[in-house]
Amino acid sequence: MTPSLILINPWICDFAAYDLWSKPLGLLYLAGYLRYCGFRIHLIDCLDVHHPGMKGDKSMKKPKRRLYGTGKFWRQEVPKPLPLSVIPRPYSRYGLSLNIFVEELNKIRKPAAILVTSLMTYWYPGVKEVISLARKIHPGVPIILGGIYARLCHNHARQNMQADSIVASNDPVSLLKSLSEFGIPTPRLPPDSGHPPYPAFDLLSQIDYVCLLTSRGCPYRCRYCASHFLDPQPIHRDPGELLEEILFWYRDYKVRDFAFYDDALLIDAEKHLALLLEKLARHHLDLRFHTPNAVHVKEITAEIASLMHQTGFRTIRLGLETSDFSLHRNLDNKIAEGDFERGVQYLLKAGFAHNEIGAYILMGLPGQSVDSVMETIDFVANTGVMPFLSEYSPIPHTALWEKAISHSEYNLASEPLFHNNTILPCWDNSQKKDLPRLKTRVLEIREKYR
Ligand code: SF4
Repeated sequence: MTPSLILINPWICDFAAYDLWSKPLGLLYLAGYLRYCGFRIHLIDCLDVHHPGMKGDKSMKKPKRRLYGTGKFWRQEVPKPLPLSVIPRPYSRYGLSLNIFVEELNKIRKPAAILVTSLMTYWYPGVKEVISLARKIHPGVPIILGGIYARLCHNHARQNMQADSIVASNDPVSLLKSLSEFGIPTPRLPPDSGHPPYPAFDLLSQIDYVCLLTSRGCPYRCRYCASHFLDPQPIHRDPGELLEEILFWYRDYKVRDFAFYDDALLIDAEKHLALLLEKLARHHLDLRFHTPNAVHVKEITAEIASLMHQTGFRTIRLGLETSDFSLHRNLDNKIAEGDFERGVQYLLKAGFAHNEIGAYILMGLPGQSVDSVMETIDFVANTGVMPFLSEYSPIPHTALWEKAISHSEYNLASEPLFHNNTILPCWDNSQKKDLPRLKTRVLEIREKYR
C-alpha cells in the first residue's frame, strides 16, 4: 500500500499577520519531492484562506483579500502566552478554525508519518498546538518537525515541541533518512539529476500566486540576517529551467502572479535573472512579478530595470534599512552612498510608477535612535518612493544576536516569544512611545502615491 504522509503548515500565533505572498515554499517543495518519491501526500495548510469548510464558519470574519493574491488571513483571538501577557494588544491564531483542522487530520486514517514545518521563531505556539492535536488524533504516528524555527532554536524545539524527530537541514534526503529510521521506506528512488520536482502548489485549495526561488543564499553577511546560517551554499538555478516552471504554472494553472523568494535576486543578474527575463520578454505573457523579500538596490542597472518593467514586475521592494551610512558600516555592506538614489532613478526612468516601488526601513535595532529612523523615512520620501517600516526581530545565529541580548529588557536567549518584532524587543519604552509618530509619517507619505 502507498504510504501516506500528512504535511502541515501550522497556524501563525501573533499580534498581527498578513498574507504578503506568504506560502510555505519549503514544505511545498518537500511535498513535490515526496510525491515524486511515491508517497501519498495530504497537505494541511493552516493558513489556507480558501478552504471550502471555512465558508460555513460564522464565528470568524471572512478575511478581506487585496491585490495580486495578498490579503488578510482567517483570525481568531486567543489568550496571550504568559510571557506576552503584559503587552496591551490582542493576540490571535491566524488560519483555519480548530474544527476544520481536526477534520483535515481525520481525513487520513493511517498516516505513516506527520511532517510539520515552522517559520518565525516566535510563532512556535502554533507549531506546538498542531503537534499536540496531531498526536491526539494519530497516537503512535511519528511526528517530524523541520523549518526555520526548528533550525534557529533547535534546543528550544527539542525541549518544548514534543516532536519525535527534528530535521535541522533543508536537504530532503535527510528527511528520507529520518523516515527510514522510523521504518518508513521510500517507495521510489528520488531524482538524482535534472531539476527537482516543482513545489506542489497544486495541492493548495486555490493558487492565487506562485512563489519562485531562482537562487539560494546571499553573498552578504548583514549582521541582523540569518541567510548565511540557513542557506550556507549559494545555488543559482538554470534560467531555462526557471522559464519552464513559470510557463508550467501560467499555462496549466492560469497563474498570473509570481513572487520571488530569493535573498539575492539581482546578484550576478547578467548571468541569471537577466537571462530569464530576456527569455520571458520574448513570450509576451501577461504576468505580474513581486519582490516581497527586497532586492539589492546597488545591483539595479538601467538594463535590469528596463527588463523588469518589460516583463511585468509590479511590486518592487528595496532593502535600504537606513540612510545613516555610519550605521550601515557597522551592520552590513550592501549599499553605499548614492546607490539608493541611482537605483530608484533607473526604476522610474524604466517606467515604474512611484507607488510600485517601496523601500524597507529597519526600525528597532539595538543602539538605533528614533531620529535616525525618521531621517530615513524622509530620505525615502525625497527620492519619490514609498517607505515601509520593518521592525527588527533579533535572530539567533546572527552576528547581532549578542548585542540584541544585551540591549533588551527581555530574556531573548531563553524565550523565543520575545523575538517578536511587534514588541520592539531592543528598544526602550521612551523609543517605543515614538512609534505612532513614525507610523503616521510613513502613512502620510504613502497616501501621496495612492
Ligand atoms: S543582503 Fe539581505 S539577504 Fe543578504 S545577508 Fe543582507 S539582509 Fe540577508
